[in-house]
Amino acid sequence: MDKIVSLCKRRGFLFQSSEIYGGVQGFWDYGPLGVELKRNLKEAWWQDMIRGHNDLLTPPGAPASFEMVGLDCTIIMHPQVWKCSGHYDLFHDHMVDCRESKKRYRFDQVRGRWCERGDQKIFVSTLAEVEQEFDEVRRRAMKFFKLRAKNADELTIADESLTLDKLDDTDSVLAPDAKTLGTLTEPREFNLMFKTTLGALGGEDDTTFLRPETAQGIFVNFKNVLDSSRVKVPFGIGQIGKSFRNEITPRNFTFRSREFEQMEIEFFCPPDQSQAWYRYWRDRRMAWYTELGLSSDSLIMREHEPAELAHYSVGTADIEYAFPFLPPGEYGELEGIAHRGDFDLRSHMEGKLNPNSPEGQPMQVELNEHGKPKYRGSGKDLSYRDEATNEKFIPHVVEPSAGADRGVLAFLCEAYTEDEAPDDKGQMQTRTVMKLHPRLAPIKAAIFPLVKKDGMPEVAQEIYGELKQHMNVFYDDKGAVGRRYRRQDEAGTPFCITVDGESLRDKTVTLRDRDSLEQTRVKIDELSFALIERLG
Ligand code: ATP
Repeated sequence: MDKIVSLCKRRGFLFQSSEIYGGVQGFWDYGPLGVELKRNLKEAWWQDMIRGHNDLLTPPGAPASFEMVGLDCTIIMHPQVWKCSGHYDLFHDHMVDCRESKKRYRFDQVRGRWCERGDQKIFVSTLAEVEQEFDEVRRRAMKFFKLRAKNADELTIADESLTLDKLDDTDSVLAPDAKTLGTLTEPREFNLMFKTTLGALGGEDDTTFLRPETAQGIFVNFKNVLDSSRVKVPFGIGQIGKSFRNEITPRNFTFRSREFEQMEIEFFCPPDQSQAWYRYWRDRRMAWYTELGLSSDSLIMREHEPAELAHYSVGTADIEYAFPFLPPGEYGELEGIAHRGDFDLRSHMEGKLNPNSPEGQPMQVELNEHGKPKYRGSGKDLSYRDEATNEKFIPHVVEPSAGADRGVLAFLCEAYTEDEAPDDKGQMQTRTVMKLHPRLAPIKAAIFPLVKKDGMPEVAQEIYGELKQHMNVFYDDKGAVGRRYRRQDEAGTPFCITVDGESLRDKTVTLRDRDSLEQTRVKIDELSFALIERLG
């Protein structure tokens, strides 16, 4: 992981936000290569899910043909949205405070191991990355027990690494920044929504939130979309946009950020078909990641256990990736696909529903101590009338919700490869190459004149100008050609085009493939076509 992080910084994929001021935790900036990669990922999603979807055909595995449209909602919405969505009450994580260091941690994210010396057994926790965790636990345990290196064998450290939420109590825990045991408070709930104020006066009524997900913007526009376009259920609305969560322990590079982008679909379908649509979207979204290059060995689909599901849901599955910062055998969520029943539309219509309503009955509006709705809905009719059958119903929703930043991170991790390639003298050297799918690669092709004379730069610049109209290409005439290839390999550029002496005679160039290292001669006239074909 360290190598990936350092390449990302060195080559301009990712920078820490406000780095010159020491950075701000949980916020990341995308550099010149990173922004292209992220845009390509979002565009691939938009093209494959929304714009390129053919509503006249039934895709393989789908129960029927369907329509897909897009939306772009605001980040700040009416505060009632978050009350009815459940985020105001429920959007929490458990966190613990350390009485000694005054630091705050997310309960389920602090890891550690049991350590024993003589008859004393303590749990030593740390925020260190997985690779350093064992050494850091040992260092802290040695210090706690005041052991010298020569007495290190008096200490036993458990093989298993655990998070704090797996422990029965925290009395024996050495907190990550503490010197004494049992300094952690009981876990408490913490609202992850960023608060902000509307207007200049800023009374309590003017308090609102930065959205913690893009989905609610889709639900509250359901009727607008229905009334303004001719979509018919089943159909989906997709949106890409920023979301904000005041994560307590942002970590693992961009994996857990406080500002991030989501790519979400709310798919509206008749209640009796929702199970089939849930299965369709779960499988379709999994396939999308493998088509773009994530290896199926590193991806899993984790179906939630029935006990984890809300009772209105027929299923929820997470698509998870074996990020290299996780211990072997552990996976991190890339995307969740949730069957949400009619919870959201009804909550925005009637008032926030009680997710703990008795099983087997339609959900009830949650009431306050006066017997009135705790959070009043909009009162707008968000039901749908099927013109063919004249049946009126509230559609059920299947929600594939993906993170653009986690997607970028997974594709970066997957792409990072070290192999061998010949240098300018034909000697094999280790090379670092980002094997990004051509659709995702920030630069599609680089154009080099072999030398900076004999008319080669002129020909190369003409090719550059021509290709630039179609795709993101890069011109480089500095240094040995082998070094120029290496730089492009690190950037993930799938093709390099070299203009050499032969080019001037027969109007051909060499086209080098990043992965196979194969070089073929292609006519300059046919270059655009050859590239577009290879890029897919
Ligand atoms: P986690 O359990 O990891 O906090 P979640 O289940 O709360 O994630 P969802 O609410 O399902 O996440 O959000 C959908 C997607 O948004 C996630 O699968 C993930 O890709 C992305 N996402 C959520 N929180 C973050 C974050 N803090 N930083 C980056 N991406 C995030």
